Amino acid sequence: MENEVVSRNFIENIIDKDLQEGMYDTVHTRFPPEPNGYLHIGHAKSILLNYGLAEEYHGKFNMRFDDTNPTKEKTEFVESIMEDIKWLGADWEDRLFYASDYFPQMYEAAVLLIKKGKAFVCDLSAEQMREYRGTLTEPGKESPYRNRSIEENLCLFEEMRDGKYADGEKVLRAKIDMASPNMNMRDPVIYRVAHMTHHRTGDQWCIYPMYDFAHPIEDAIEGITHSICTLEFEDHRPLYDWVVREVGYEHPPKQIEFAKLYLTNVVTGKRYIKKLVEEGIVDGWDDPRLVSIAALRRRGFTPESIRRFVDLVGVSKANSSADYAMLEYCIREDLKEKAPRLMAVLDPIRLVIDNYPEGEVEFLEAPNNMENEALGSRQVPFGRELFIEREDFMIDPPRKYKRMFPGTEVRLMNAYFVTCTGYETDPEGNVTIVHAEYDPATKGGNAPDGRKVKGTIHWVEASHAVKAKVRLYENIVDEEKGVYNKEDGSLNLNPNSLTECDAYLEPDLGQAKPYERFQFVRNGFFCVDYKDSEDGAPVFNRIVSLKSSFKLPN
Ligand code: ATP
Ligand code: MG
Repeated sequence: MENEVVSRNFIENIIDKDLQEGMYDTVHTRFPPEPNGYLHIGHAKSILLNYGLAEEYHGKFNMRFDDTNPTKEKTEFVESIMEDIKWLGADWEDRLFYASDYFPQMYEAAVLLIKKGKAFVCDLSAEQMREYRGTLTEPGKESPYRNRSIEENLCLFEEMRDGKYADGEKVLRAKIDMASPNMNMRDPVIYRVAHMTHHRTGDQWCIYPMYDFAHPIEDAIEGITHSICTLEFEDHRPLYDWVVREVGYEHPPKQIEFAKLYLTNVVTGKRYIKKLVEEGIVDGWDDPRLVSIAALRRRGFTPESIRRFVDLVGVSKANSSADYAMLEYCIREDLKEKAPRLMAVLDPIRLVIDNYPEGEVEFLEAPNNMENEALGSRQVPFGRELFIEREDFMIDPPRKYKRMFPGTEVRLMNAYFVTCTGYETDPEGNVTIVHAEYDPATKGGNAPDGRKVKGTIHWVEASHAVKAKVRLYENIVDEEKGVYNKEDGSLNLNPNSLTECDAYLEPDLGQAKPYERFQFVRNGFFCVDYKDSEDGAPVFNRIVSLKSSFKLPN
């Protein structure tokens, strides 16, 4: 789009200033997912933001698994996350890191804090600690263990590491300020005992660092300059700064917060998606109705469309929701000229052209994309019996109906003018066959005498047609009722979120391969499902229909 406004976002303004003032002489960002689920569209924003900044400033972008919490992490997620990030086009080159590789440095940093008198081992139970913590309006109380000697703390911390204590028996806390108005600064826990097996370090450790302590250290070790995270960490920034300062890093990273990306009427929470997967309501984490990156890919979205979407949403400090229709707009724009346009009939009835020679089939030329000549053309079979969409014929239509009904002439796309001469019905009155006669002089779709028709419909020749399964989607949640049930917090599911139909397609489509994308004229954009397609028997997922009410804001 020519008229999209290119203005610098607030993060670019901060970085510009940092570089100008010499605070940093390079830009080094990272994406630090916890490997505890699949990435979703919100993560795509964070990935593309971090990677985009590194590119823009000719800096570096790291990939780092933030795997310091051994309870939830799984190797399966590590693999899917890397696949998704690569697919989006973010390149970490040779900089793939695991926070768990820094456990020794984190341990050393903790020892250093103890030696500086800035950390202590505390025996208060979790419940007691909560009582001592105070409230937003009242200061906390200091722990009775706060003034242990450095020697005692060193010894106890070593014993924690060596497995002398049970989970929860002792923790290591930073010694900051129990009266701080910021609750995060009230002597936060930085290490806990957890006798758990870690997916990478196994049973090597039975103490694990807390996120607020580990994250700044990870950033500092990697030489990250701008540590970009979401808004909920804003109140944690003083602690982030405290850790890098007290541990004594020479080039401390800077934390910058931005607002999360939310989408209207979609489910992004891991908790909910997990439930949908476990209850078999969806077909795995990549079910095309979800907005995990794997699901969007399976549905047929392109990386370009997601990058475009993320650009349009922009970066801000204020939480807001983007409209799903905007994501749809982006994929339509991307595929409009890229995808070949073929004919497919999703809800077929037969059309018999009575004056066309029986048993004969001819091949007619059809352009592959009227808006992009580079895609060339193809030969489409035409014959006496065709399939057309059920909704393209009416016995007794309303006045504005422009398609087929008895006595009218319409254009069969890329073929001929035909005039409807009659129809047959079954005992229930459903139309089974439509009859018509064609005008051989209108080959290619235009009449030599210049007469016009009001409607053009698509069709597929019956004897060459390929039958295939086509899936149409609606939102997985009921938009009218809202995503979550007000009473019990469960999801308001839309019972019509998936419709499968047996469609008839042009013969060329029978050979379509997984991830190939097409426009089925008048029906939308479709992508071959990678999971359920077989060689010569593709299954098509509708990415998006052609109609949109979405308008790009000015
Ligand atoms: P969720 O619970 O929604 O899956 P998370 O924050 O637990 O998200 P992490 O793996 O911890 O997931 O996140 C990795 C990075 O992605 C973090 O820097 C986080 O701030 C960012 N992120 C997560 N959700 C969003 C979102 N909706 N929009 C933008 N960035 C996000
Ligand atoms: Mg998280």
